[in-house]
Amino acid sequence: MKPTLIVHGGAWRIAEETHADHIAGTRAAAQAGWHVLCHGGSALDAVEIAVSAMEDDPVFDAGVGSVLNRAGDIEVDAMIMDGRTLALGAVAAVRGIKNPVRLARVIMQDTDHCVLVAEGARRFAEEKGIRLCAAAELTVPREIERFRKLQEVPDYHLSDEFTPDPMDTVGAVAIDQAGNIAAATSTGGVHFKLPGRVGDSPLVGSGAYADNLTGGASATGHGESIMRVLLSKTATDALGRGMGAQAAAEWAIRHMHERVNGYGGLILVDHRGNTGFAYNTPHMAVAWVDARGEIHAQIKG
Ligand code: ASP
Repeated sequence: MKPTLIVHGGAWRIAEETHADHIAGTRAAAQAGWHVLCHGGSALDAVEIAVSAMEDDPVFDAGVGSVLNRAGDIEVDAMIMDGRTLALGAVAAVRGIKNPVRLARVIMQDTDHCVLVAEGARRFAEEKGIRLCAAAELTVPREIERFRKLQEVPDYHLSDEFTPDPMDTVGAVAIDQAGNIAAATSTGGVHFKLPGRVGDSPLVGSGAYADNLTGGASATGHGESIMRVLLSKTATDALGRGMGAQAAAEWAIRHMHERVNGYGGLILVDHRGNTGFAYNTPHMAVAWVDARGEIHAQIKG
């Protein structure tokens, strides 16, 4: 089986002056994941490495660079899923973790559980020797400035429609030489969220899904809309009904818009290794590997 990989760095309005950084960041992530796949590595390792690379990159709203919640704290969500066994690991509303996707992977592999949240997730990370960090290590000046501005807005609430501010959640989907599919998503969530708010990213079938029988997906956009239509599972189910990867991605995004007026983006890999992506926001940052093994990174919009 020819391996392949697709990654995203969020779908929303991506400010023109940050396009080059988004392209560089998604390209570097795709390269890191592709390197794993080309050397016979697993889809799980590839998506973990690709997502970790974007968590380390302050451009994105994941790991370092995450958005601040209403209390000025960073609480992150992440998930990883193995399409071979349907095993999954997820963390939600956890503080002081640089690479939540790694923690999600350890939860998947070393516990009988699928999801750990908040303080319990932190304690588990500590037990497993995953380095905790101070909030300051994850906080970038851009987000402090945004937080201060939002504090001035009376009755601020995130509307269902996209706002001018980007939210650059990251994700990756891959298929390896053995035909195993994996998907992962990681995010700081939406800016100025209530403390304790959990988005779609760590919710199975919403922020990501992977099943060797159909395909894998990772989503980004308005979490409260994505979770209402189980966007990732909806899209992989469409693959299972015989829809092509591109058509399924477009259909799932259309369905979310029609049912809940939701905005977002989705990347997909089907069980034959075809990739697709779709979005109904002004932009989406994506990078993918073509049939010749070349990496393309673009801001679509
Ligand atoms: N889906 C994420 C959330 O709602 C945000 C994003 O994709 O940018 O938490």
